[in-house]
Amino acid sequence: MASAVARTLRDVVDFPEPGVIFKDITPVLADPELLRRCVAALAAPFANQVDLVAAIEARGFILGAPVAVALGAGFIPVRKAGKLPRPTVAETYQLEYGTAAVEVHEDALQPGQRVLVVDDVIATGGTVEASLRLVHRLGGTVVGVAALCELSQLGGRARMAPLEPRVLLTL
Ligand code: AMP
Repeated sequence: MASAVARTLRDVVDFPEPGVIFKDITPVLADPELLRRCVAALAAPFANQVDLVAAIEARGFILGAPVAVALGAGFIPVRKAGKLPRPTVAETYQLEYGTAAVEVHEDALQPGQRVLVVDDVIATGGTVEASLRLVHRLGGTVVGVAALCELSQLGGRARMAPLEPRVLLTL
């Protein structure tokens, strides 16, 4: 699984800014069998444990929705600030320069519901960490984090402790 993802992902140097090596997942999405296997592998450890999948805009949505269907769970979009139409709760997180925020509707989940957080790539872990805070603020129980790829040198995993994210490829 890891080697198939590693072979298929593309590195895009200096995107979206100089110094960043962007992990382009679109070839993985375009491969029907690999996409099916990735969705199944992301969902498998969490069978019968999840009420809702909370996936992070925008590429997290692409994986999170089929993972939710595979688990028989519902779906919560975790969106960038200002996109959701009804009252929200927000959490900010640090970027290299400045801050960003993620939001969910304030009634996105009921206290006690079990939530799996999904994104495509874990880099610094700031986006997932802010999403975990959102789930906790609404009284949800985070059962796990799942992502296609982790950039381990950036140490994002430590920000999710004691959760161990499920990742299909560690770089
Ligand atoms: P972070 O909060 O630093 O873990 O960044 C995670 C978010 O930014 C994810 O939603 C990714 O889609 C995106 N991201 C960060 N770094 C990269 C990268 N090198 N390649 C692709 N996506 C990235």
